[in-house]
Amino acid sequence: MARGALSAEERARYQRQIGPGVLTEEGQLRLRRSTVFISRVGGMGGPAALALAMAGVGRIIFAHGGTLESADLNRQVLGSEHGLGKPRAAQFADCLRERNHFVTVEALDHEPDDAEAVELAGRADLVISAAPTFAERFRLNRAAVACGVPLIDAAQWGMTGTLIATKPHVTACLRCVYPQDPPFEEMFPVVGAISAAIGSLAALEAIKILSGTGRPMFGSLLLIDGYRGHESRVQLRRNPTCPCCGDSPLPLDGREAGGEGGGTQDMN
Ligand SMILES: [Zn+2]
Repeated sequence: MARGALSAEERARYQRQIGPGVLTEEGQLRLRRSTVFISRVGGMGGPAALALAMAGVGRIIFAHGGTLESADLNRQVLGSEHGLGKPRAAQFADCLRERNHFVTVEALDHEPDDAEAVELAGRADLVISAAPTFAERFRLNRAAVACGVPLIDAAQWGMTGTLIATKPHVTACLRCVYPQDPPFEEMFPVVGAISAAIGSLAALEAIKILSGTGRPMFGSLLLIDGYRGHESRVQLRRNPTCPCCGDSPLPLDGREAGGEGGGTQDMN
């Protein structure tokens, strides 16, 4: 990875995002020095990873298993019809590399287990969860809390999406927000446009946090209900008895569900 000041080539690439109201040159350098770990780069994580790569985040580590199927292509922007039937990790990594040669991309071709999640979060400055299952979202949350790095959690259903930005031991973590595992539907409906919107907003939060730009939405949940055409913001409260980030957290064995204290959200 390049060191020191921005090269003339980097300056040319990023000139539209450096200046008043956007990044400083130091902010751009911070992005270059940053590593983001993002699990699943499908409908939400794909646009997020794309935006991070184009913005110049120095290292993107992602996890995504399986082969590309036709049903993925209503939302998974890193894939194309040429890649149908082929493993997703390799082609998604190539797609990102083709967008910006200043960025290093590492791909994991399967869902990270507890140990891998902690290892990868430990190498990262920020974690983005764009995972479809609550099990994986909570695993990434535990890893982010254990490693003390911010987590941005992106989720979607139908034409609705949510975004949560957490800072371990400062704001609510994902387990504070969902003390009990919510019900999960394997093949839930989703429209690619909301996936891309939520994924892009996740990347924007990451860019702000990593570069020190603007005001990150730490401690709040953004809900975009595209079906009804409205958005709302919920302030989140930390749960001091949270089994993940509370004063007496459980070990990282993946069995934290059912912690005490529900109702940790305040609508505003
Ligand atoms: Zn918590």
